[in-house]
Amino acid sequence: MNRKVTLIPGDGIGPEIMAAVKAVFAALQAPIEWEEENAGVSAWKEHGELLPQSLLKSLEQNRIGLKGPITTPVGEGFRSVNIQLRQHFDLYANVRPSKSLEAIPTRFKNVDIVIIRENTEGLYSGLEYFDERLGIVDSICRITMKGCDRIVRSAFEYAKVNGRKKVTLVHKANILKQAGAVLLNAGKVIAPEYPGIVMEDLIIDNMCMQLVTKPEKYDVIVTTNLFGDILSDLAAGLVGGLGVAAGANIGSDIALFEAVHGSAPDIAGKGLANPTAILKSGVMMLRYLGEEHLAERLENAIEITLGNRALATADLGGKAGTMKFTEGIIKQLELQAVDLQTSSSL
Ligand code: NAD
Repeated sequence: MNRKVTLIPGDGIGPEIMAAVKAVFAALQAPIEWEEENAGVSAWKEHGELLPQSLLKSLEQNRIGLKGPITTPVGEGFRSVNIQLRQHFDLYANVRPSKSLEAIPTRFKNVDIVIIRENTEGLYSGLEYFDERLGIVDSICRITMKGCDRIVRSAFEYAKVNGRKKVTLVHKANILKQAGAVLLNAGKVIAPEYPGIVMEDLIIDNMCMQLVTKPEKYDVIVTTNLFGDILSDLAAGLVGGLGVAAGANIGSDIALFEAVHGSAPDIAGKGLANPTAILKSGVMMLRYLGEEHLAERLENAIEITLGNRALATADLGGKAGTMKFTEGIIKQLELQAVDLQTSSSL
């Protein structure tokens, strides 16, 4: 039976990369029925709502979604739709892997990092007050014991399930002493429950320096919202850039998969976007659904296509557009299907 999944095209390059997703998943014959609901600036233009009730209802029912990027105006305007979605469904763990690929030449080899970012609190709590008379802005960084406990536990669980060996807690406890202490205490309590997984902690500034000099030393990194957001773009840069960085927002029985990148207004509508990041988010979604075989097939097709320089998109130094790259992946999936048919008839 097909599984209903909410598909959110989003803004900017969103509709282009989501068209690639639909074409690739059709070629993969994944047992998925897309339920399309939009959000963001494009939804507002269509229906006068940034976060339509019909989208919330669809996610409420389906408990799983694949989302394109959504534009948020800088320094003014409406509150981020991304944050509203994460907070509304309590999608507290943002899982963002960055792994070196043979096919993408980068400064470092053997990078294999997964950032587990707290997704609902910290400086993204939405508690910001401007006293115009005094000329003072207070942006409140709310950290809770519950939030720290569950994000640190998520990181250790992730490490255990995926055979990882080390969890690095990243904080700024030399300056933000109370907030840092809550995260560190969660680590001290939870780590002993996971024998065989080493825990260490680093201050955020040192973490940045370590990642741009010895990234291969790091495994699972767990941190608060803003640090996780910044570190995951940095980690994306180590393995080829935002065009290839996938992610998942996970709650207790609900998940919303999305690329790390935003709506890329500089290339929107030009057919230039690299759909790898959203397709790899689709691979994570297939694994979450227990479709390991399909996830492996898609991952393999993406990697082979990335290795073909004639199909490389501009962000990876090539000249191909979104559709040409997508057609390359579909071709690989068709070749796999022929191989599967041949081996089953032998
Ligand atoms: P961005 O991630 O959209 O773009 C940064 C750079 O990376 C740009 O040069 C862009 O062209 C490039 N890039 C991003 N994705 C790419 C892809 N798939 N293929 C090729 N190149 C790609 O970041 P930004 O420009 O700072 O933000 C633009 C908008 O996106 C803002 O409104 C921001 O709030 C929003 N945003 C949304 C999300 C989300 O929906 N989860 C995440 C980050 C930013």
